[in-house]
Amino acid sequence: MSGILYLVATPIGNLEDITLRAINVLKEVDLIAAEDTRHSLKLLNHLEISKPLFSYHRHNEEVKSDYLIDKLLNGENIAIITDAGTPAISDPGEFIVKKAIENNITIVPIPGCCALINALICSGFDTREFAFYGFLPLNKKIRANKFEQLKKENKTIILYEAPHKIITTLNDIYKNMGDVNIVLARELTKIHESFLRGTVSELISKMENIKGEMIILIEGNQKVEEEEKENLSIEEQYELYKKEGLNKNEIIKKIAKNNGVKKNDIYMQFIDKE
Ligand code: SAM
Repeated sequence: MSGILYLVATPIGNLEDITLRAINVLKEVDLIAAEDTRHSLKLLNHLEISKPLFSYHRHNEEVKSDYLIDKLLNGENIAIITDAGTPAISDPGEFIVKKAIENNITIVPIPGCCALINALICSGFDTREFAFYGFLPLNKKIRANKFEQLKKENKTIILYEAPHKIITTLNDIYKNMGDVNIVLARELTKIHESFLRGTVSELISKMENIKGEMIILIEGNQKVEEEEKENLSIEEQYELYKKEGLNKNEIIKKIAKNNGVKKNDIYMQFIDKE
């Protein structure tokens, strides 16, 4: 029988942020595949876990996956860990998961830290719907296209960025999206954890003294949603707002505002509606 492939979340700074289940799995597997074995050794030493480690990173993911799949097919249990947080989220993991599915190997997630989720929940932006874009592409043309997409995004946007590229990316956000509201979630779970809030130009002016790992959150474009609604018929707008949970009075007020007409005119149109 095949072994199990575990995707184990590890801390994103504070070594205490690891679950009991993650520790037990790391103790019990036959092999741990780690992005940077030297980095992971610090965590494993801290947890007093001694296991064979195997190097598995973005640049050797495809080749090394075959080796790991063979081991899994031979019945060995393997844990994938990365330098920080949840595997396969802007980190190695996706490729071997696809291979494991092709080979009918059981895949088990071991939940824990995920940097983006912790940044989002403290951002103060909309958490009901959000869009994670990972690292922005570096190629100029593809990056420009991505910004076209971001401009229209009405959900909270979450971006990962390397510390030395934060300023460049903030400047690109300003150039392409205007002076949008952003939050920088910095050094999460570490001593210098902080949340910097403001417009992108305000934060650019403070960046000289701010270092460390960061996640960029951008408030979703509220106008897009309103513009989309303005293009709907008045009936369609009514049904949409109703689905969103608004009562009749609130709906009428919104529709009147969207369409620049008197509330009473809209009221008369929906006089028989509940
Ligand atoms: N897979 C990991 C996760 O989702 O938790 C993320 C790995 S990704 C290669 C690294 C990026 O995540 C960093 O460039 C930064 O944007 C973000 N990040 C990771 N740890 C962080 C922390 N402690 N504080 C702020 N951002 C962090």
